[in-house]
Amino acid sequence: MDQFDVVIIGAGAAGLMCALTAGARGRRVLLLEHAAQAGAKILISGGGRCNFTNRDTAPDRFFSGNPHFCKSALKRYTQHDFIALVQRHGIAYHEKTLGQLFCDGSARAIVAMLLAECAAAGVDLRVGHRVIDITKADRFRVETDHGDFAAGAVVLATGGLSIPKMGATGFAHDMAARFGLKLTETRPALVPLTFTGEDLAVMQPLSGVAVDVQARCDRRAFRESMLFTHRGLSGPAVLQISSCWHEGKSITLDMTPGSDAAAFLLERKRTRPNAELKTILGEILPQRLAQKLVETRFVNRPINAMRDKELAAIAGFLKAWQVVPSGTEGYAKAEVTLGGVDTAGLSSRTMQAGDVPGLYVIGEAVDVTGWLGGYNFQWAWSSGWSAGQAV
Ligand code: FAD
Repeated sequence: MDQFDVVIIGAGAAGLMCALTAGARGRRVLLLEHAAQAGAKILISGGGRCNFTNRDTAPDRFFSGNPHFCKSALKRYTQHDFIALVQRHGIAYHEKTLGQLFCDGSARAIVAMLLAECAAAGVDLRVGHRVIDITKADRFRVETDHGDFAAGAVVLATGGLSIPKMGATGFAHDMAARFGLKLTETRPALVPLTFTGEDLAVMQPLSGVAVDVQARCDRRAFRESMLFTHRGLSGPAVLQISSCWHEGKSITLDMTPGSDAAAFLLERKRTRPNAELKTILGEILPQRLAQKLVETRFVNRPINAMRDKELAAIAGFLKAWQVVPSGTEGYAKAEVTLGGVDTAGLSSRTMQAGDVPGLYVIGEAVDVTGWLGGYNFQWAWSSGWSAGQAV
């Protein structure tokens, strides 16, 4: 049986970073991937340009049962460390918005960079290898469909449950549980929300319309773009707030964020008295949305025919449209999995399981989930690097 210092299972963002870090320290590293290629999710990320980190990465941009857990790894391997690596490889990038860094060209450059670093560090990468079982006696024994391997350490880096058609599995969760680690509840996150009934009747015909909103749920608020879809709502603001949403809860949408809608309507009543409500709303909302709202929620009349109280009610709706999602589009459309291996069983410095020396869990498999905007890759890099330094 081939012997290694460490077997890393899953050649995604976290597994590749862990492998190149451990390899550079002189460890004999085997990196196993069941798909035909490494880093498949990196290739499709950020619309093919990979939002590889966020310049403003900070621990408060992550959800976890223990909000302090991510601090150590994020501090030890920062966004600046990853940016420096990208620069060393001559990969051109730009900031799109809100600190989000994207490749100028294809995400392939990031995968090529990680593979080149792995090769330089002597990592033995084997794709098309399905791990069947892991057992531990003196050393770990990793059973695959291409034979067995032994190692002093095993790193679970198989990610979360999102996008099963790309090969996502609950493998890390199942294995961690088998070794006695606890799991937190898992849910699809950064995911479009679905609606039924009256809400959907308004949203569906607006499919494709985008509007700047502030979406609020559970004392969290995100101001970004929102997109109407044929099943409900999507776009960055909604993907962000989906991570805070639970069944039965409402979401409040401010469709004129940063502006006083009531004052605007009263001012227009004075300055454009004969204009219809639809026309006035079209000044601050996309035309199709303004049209739909006067068809379904308000009555389209000249604005000077409306009492101030009516205008206040319209402004109230624009500032706080309460909607109750019926569900989400699920793991098939979710960018990430919320929840995972409970951080209580892991060292925040090394990602090693406290009760199972030599077993490590990194990346999305852990109960640490970032906001939209490059944070999830930064967690993969930081947790992967931390484990790579320790194995
Ligand atoms: P993964 O990257 O999922 O890697 C896990 C690897 O393990 C995969 O290669 C998988 O094939 C392999 N594997 C699974 N089971 C087994 C098994 N049993 N045996 C062997 N191998 C196995 N985040 C950002 O920060 N920025 C973005 O721009 C961004 N865009 C995204 C776009 C989409 C469409 C999606 C779905 C996600 C996006 N994310 C983005 C999230 C980001 O991709 C993940 O958070 C990140 O990839 C997690 O890294 P990971 O290494 O933990 O898991």
